[in-house]
Amino acid sequence: MLDSLFPWLLVPLGLALGWALGRRQSLAATAPAAVLNPEQIGGLLRQLASDDPDQAIAALTQVTQLDESAIELHLQLGNLFRKRGEVDRALRVHETLLARPNLSPAVQGQVRRELAYDYMRAGIMDHAEQQFERLISDGHYVAESLDQIRQIAEQIHDWRAAIAAARRLEAAQGESKRALIAQYWCELAEEARRAKKAEEALQLAQRGTEEDADCVRAHLLLGGLQEAAGDKPAAAKSYLRAFALDARYLPDLLEPLYRCLLGSGDSETYLQFLKDAKEISASSLPFIAEARLLADEGIDPLDHLAQGLEVRPSRAVLAQFLEVLEKQPNVIAAGLDKPAASLRLALRRLMESAPRYQCSHCGFSPRQQFWQCPSCKRWGSIAPIDEAMRLPG
Ligand SMILES: [Zn+2]
Repeated sequence: MLDSLFPWLLVPLGLALGWALGRRQSLAATAPAAVLNPEQIGGLLRQLASDDPDQAIAALTQVTQLDESAIELHLQLGNLFRKRGEVDRALRVHETLLARPNLSPAVQGQVRRELAYDYMRAGIMDHAEQQFERLISDGHYVAESLDQIRQIAEQIHDWRAAIAAARRLEAAQGESKRALIAQYWCELAEEARRAKKAEEALQLAQRGTEEDADCVRAHLLLGGLQEAAGDKPAAAKSYLRAFALDARYLPDLLEPLYRCLLGSGDSETYLQFLKDAKEISASSLPFIAEARLLADEGIDPLDHLAQGLEVRPSRAVLAQFLEVLEKQPNVIAAGLDKPAASLRLALRRLMESAPRYQCSHCGFSPRQQFWQCPSCKRWGSIAPIDEAMRLPG
């Protein structure tokens, strides 16, 4: 019990004692009737110590005259209640304080800000938003309030409201929010795609690329939608743009580009893409893609994979090499096909259990792509990890 009370007592005690000492002098001079005297402060602390915070709140609300320290005590108590998850008590303290007459505009802003966070903590987002809007119109905590309104819109997946808040924030701070707004357009595009509104999804993804021409996600999304609409050349262009923007997406782009470029008869561009990929990235994946092209043409890709293994060793290229190796007649004749297959399966299992993506900000490593990191909440910070980059040392 004492452990849980300790942080409770520490802050209010310090505040209250400082306040009491300050009040003692003014009490002698003005003798007001309804300020907290040292005995009442003692009572308040006893109520907190006996874990009766409601009585402590009642004692506070009975005080009719508030000086700076008394206001600070209200705010500290309210915040402590909120931190402890006792949001109803936090709300009561802050609401009662805000209802007081004669609060200065600055104090009103301070209390309203706390109240807004209480509502957020309570999950009453519309009330929180109202308080933040009021803060903005009163000229208090403008950028912070706009950012909170944006985050509320994110939480409730109201992407158009998030765009509007981000634009207001952009104007208030004078900083570009285009990268963020492009993510919101992508969210809207994905919603439309899930609702089978293909044309609308395409237009929204296009808006994403217009908002931020460097948004990899918007180009990937646009490529997927164009491919689904049967426009393979346009899709390939979008995928290639995504690769030019961020070569880390190579693992996610090889297959779509194979489908779109070879599917539209443009093997020349595909070969050029693989050549570029080998130069730009340290990945072994272009070797695997080239081996696939050789196999498509009926050429044994074993030597090519062996070369890949030599210059870009990775589990992926080794697994592919074994897959081709175990089908070689001399390997089968020697009875080595089964051990090769076992080794390949073990490698595949290792690869399947490894994380495929990583957040460049917090290091979170999921198996699937998230455009907003579930851990640090950053947008666009998660990208594929190339298998070649995480070979055991
Ligand atoms: Zn993160």
